[in-house]
Amino acid sequence: MANFNTHITVAAAGSLLATGICLQTAHLSQAEAAALFAMGTLAGLLPDIDSDHSLPAQWIFSLLSLATALLILFGWQGKLPLWQLLACAAAGAVVMRYIILKLFTRITVHRALFHSLPAALLAGLATIVLGQQLMGWSLDFTWLAAAFVTCGYLLHLLLDEMFSVNLMGSSLKQSFGTALTLFAPAAWPAYLLLYSAVLAGIVLLPMPRFISAAIPRPLESTLHDSFNHLLVMVPAW
Ligand SMILES: [Zn+2]
Repeated sequence: MANFNTHITVAAAGSLLATGICLQTAHLSQAEAAALFAMGTLAGLLPDIDSDHSLPAQWIFSLLSLATALLILFGWQGKLPLWQLLACAAAGAVVMRYIILKLFTRITVHRALFHSLPAALLAGLATIVLGQQLMGWSLDFTWLAAAFVTCGYLLHLLLDEMFSVNLMGSSLKQSFGTALTLFAPAAWPAYLLLYSAVLAGIVLLPMPRFISAAIPRPLESTLHDSFNHLLVMVPAW
């Protein structure tokens, strides 16, 4: 498998190239281009989040702890005295960085669920949900961000596979085939959950304008009705 330096270098180079192409072909601001570059590069490290003691896991959880502190500060601002607000934000960051990271490394196995094609798809779907629900991005930019995240993630999996092949091409290391997994019978409950999340994400996806314009009207209204039906059923549970 490729090491941290290789992953971050290739992810940054790939993201830079893709960002350059998007700047030429799409109407992007410089801030949007910088955000796409950062997301593509980070996605290139994301699959190693399950590796115990790995730099990517520590980096990603450091960023998550910062995000947790900011969410608490913005979400509870004005509802608590300042010292309590700061104490809660600090506590949230510490819990995420140390306790959740420790639990995460204990329950996950390196190069298992996170080194798989459905996980790459789920990373893209999660970007769409976060972009729409939390960040309020435009639909087209959200889809572009999801493409950067999915491609960055896939680039990591491809690199791991390439480093599993002996340079002379005559033999394969034991890790060959473990980075681009579609399904592992031994971990079927986890894969069932993963595919269910992917399916739910696909059904509930908001479509960008150029795709929704291409879908025939009757089919679009059927999908829309099914979605509304689901929304009515959810509170009943
Ligand atoms: Zn990896």
